[in-house]
Amino acid sequence: MKVLVTGGSGFIGSALCARLVRQGHQPVVLSRRPDRARSVLPPDTRVVASLDEIDGGETLGGIVNLAGENLFAGRWTAPRKDRLMASRIHTTRAVVALCRRLEQTPPVLVSGSAVGFYGDAGDAELTEHSSARRKDFGYRLCDTWEQTAREAQRLDMRLCLIRTGVVLGRDGGMLAKLLPVYRLGLGARLGNGAQWLSWIHLHDMTTILLRALENPAVEGVFNATAPHPVTQRHFHRALAAAVHRPAPWVAPAPLLKLALGELSGMLLGGQRVYPRRLEDQGFGFRYPQLEDALADLVGDS
Ligand code: NDP
Repeated sequence: MKVLVTGGSGFIGSALCARLVRQGHQPVVLSRRPDRARSVLPPDTRVVASLDEIDGGETLGGIVNLAGENLFAGRWTAPRKDRLMASRIHTTRAVVALCRRLEQTPPVLVSGSAVGFYGDAGDAELTEHSSARRKDFGYRLCDTWEQTAREAQRLDMRLCLIRTGVVLGRDGGMLAKLLPVYRLGLGARLGNGAQWLSWIHLHDMTTILLRALENPAVEGVFNATAPHPVTQRHFHRALAAAVHRPAPWVAPAPLLKLALGELSGMLLGGQRVYPRRLEDQGFGFRYPQLEDALADLVGDS
């Protein structure tokens, strides 16, 4: 089937497109930079610079909506916060407008969100039924993104909202930034390290997106996190051990706050999230434990 993927050139989206192609589907990627997008996507992937390029008579088997400016692209100044919000909301609105315009409404919208929805939540154990503990910018961003996607329900589309944890993969996201530092033995615990980190291996993440696309029984909000979240201290020690380096360093919280401003809250706060709905539906994680995920991702192959 033909699947529209916004953000398909990104870390998660490009891995998803590769799996879609391997399964015989045809991704159609929305990208602001089509040439760059083509260079990271499977050969012959169709890339559109605007959703207007999709004809009203085309049939889409589903949509995966991941586009959004990177949260770690710089300090959260007021203009940057506007861009973080607008990049997600404008794209999501355009996706819903496309669904209205198509002669045949696509059956499913799988739309991104993040565990930041729950706000900085201390030690509280969070499932899909939990409400936000702190209504900080992370919460407002995710909530507005989700509410915008919910417009698709008015078109009788099946909607899946994927509250994603920190995705671990070799070629992007947080791990790709940390690995060179840890390999030099310079990795540091962040603050006191007691904050929770809800993570997921990229393979499990793309499996969840594919399942949401393909399985008509899958609907609603899902936490896409491994079943065993860890503290930042645990993560720091596990990553240092995976690259066989010591882990004595600490990045003090005041220094991070000074250097990063409000963005430091993403590193010094966290969420202890459990994928209750995936587990209730019998989803099998290939990498439920952090140490196994890191062994897979940090090895030489
Ligand atoms: P990437 O930053 O790797 O990719 C995001 C994509 O969004 C880019 O390829 C880009 O496509 C598009 N994009 C970037 N800025 C804008 C903009 N201003 N306007 C429109 N489109 C834009 O992100 P990931 O693949 O890591 O994540 C995908 C989504 O999942 C993101 O929204 C992210 O916030 C969310 N998420 C990711 C997590 C992670 O750990 N990676 C964790 C939780 C949520 P192009 O340049 O081709 O237009």
